[in-house]
Amino acid sequence: MATTKTINVKTDIPGPRSQDILERKARVVAEPLSIYLPIVIAEAHGATITDVDGNTFIDFTGGVGCLNVGHSHPRVIEAAREQLERFTHTDFTIVPYENYVALAERLCELAPISGDVRAAFFNTGAEAVENSVKFARSYTKRPAVLAFDGGFHGRTLLALSLTSKTHPYKAGLGPFAPEVYRVPFNDLDEIEGAFKTRVAAEEVAAVVFEPVQGESGFIPAEEDFVRGLRRICDANGIVLVADEVQTGFCRTGRVFAMEHFEVEPDLMTIAKSIAAGIPLSGVVGRAEIMDAPGDSAVGGTYVGNPVAIAAAHAVLDVIAEERLAERAEQIGETIRSRMESWRDRFDSVTAVRGLGAMLAIELTKNGEPAAELATEVAEAAARNGLLILKAGLYGNCIRVLVPLVISEPELDEALAAWEDALDEVSA
Ligand code: PLP
Repeated sequence: MATTKTINVKTDIPGPRSQDILERKARVVAEPLSIYLPIVIAEAHGATITDVDGNTFIDFTGGVGCLNVGHSHPRVIEAAREQLERFTHTDFTIVPYENYVALAERLCELAPISGDVRAAFFNTGAEAVENSVKFARSYTKRPAVLAFDGGFHGRTLLALSLTSKTHPYKAGLGPFAPEVYRVPFNDLDEIEGAFKTRVAAEEVAAVVFEPVQGESGFIPAEEDFVRGLRRICDANGIVLVADEVQTGFCRTGRVFAMEHFEVEPDLMTIAKSIAAGIPLSGVVGRAEIMDAPGDSAVGGTYVGNPVAIAAAHAVLDVIAEERLAERAEQIGETIRSRMESWRDRFDSVTAVRGLGAMLAIELTKNGEPAAELATEVAEAAARNGLLILKAGLYGNCIRVLVPLVISEPELDEALAAWEDALDEVSA
């Protein structure tokens, strides 16, 4: 139990009302929807979550990276409410609406891609990834897709085929989509090798990569690697797809992570923080690629929902008005220096990495990944009033996806709660 200025944990975790709801959940909700931390939310604002037992936590999970503008931002609520009152759905291709067109205009302008740029909206990150491959295949008239070890691109069939983690995501769920080739990340020679031994370069439609690998533990792409990908794609007529689903909308200290590399992708997938957690995703990219599929070859009943789009406009306004990219850099510097002090102090903290406010620590024990230790730290942090998420191929990283609207005092409190958790678990 912990009480500081914002944090107020007054029950055991889970509290009695959370526990009751989770018992009901176990009776009626499919088991694969397992719960990470047993805390049932009542409401959330900015960087805080209050649970049904009246405990208030600082939230470093940010809805797995969807809440860069924070929970319940008044601008987002107002925009969504105003849209809800006018109309909630038509299907854009049946009865179009202006805010879809206006969001495409804004994102085409913002995307770090020159020349004629177009956008298309979907619902989830996985759908955006699937559609980026459709655009690339239609444009190149080639079948194959190259992806990377440690990549995560979603859970639908093609996205899951691109995803590179067996447990818990892929095991038992095959067969997977054909013509997906995977090579080690941050290694250009392996790509050239794959073109010799596994798939001819002229058969490859797209290379899909994350500028910072998310689920596998916040591993940034190296600058030479990204430049090399661009070179290889140019030399072989391959579409370069940057999956910015987790890195986008200021997480890394730029609106899009690709801005760090001064390399233009051909297509970018976006989702998560685009609409503050209301389902919305998109592909933004070079016009000739985006225009390649035939009429109606991309789409879907709900894609580009007007309420989600209204929220996305508010998110873009907040990003500009509250200068969230700069704020992400500052938050990142504060957290990184604290994490580095932990690396010096705790034997178990063996790496600190990431970009901007997309940071993680890695925990090991006797040179081996320490997943259980990471779980213990996350549980102790929750008791101390901080919600944090694990990551990493071995589940031994703890990552930061804090809302970028967090105040300095809240950030201090949160890092103290995390440090206390490391202390408790190391004792
Ligand atoms: N791509 C990346 C880089 C992601 O991090 C994720 C989700 O974490 C996805 C795609 C899949 O997005 P969604 O879960 O919305 O389908």
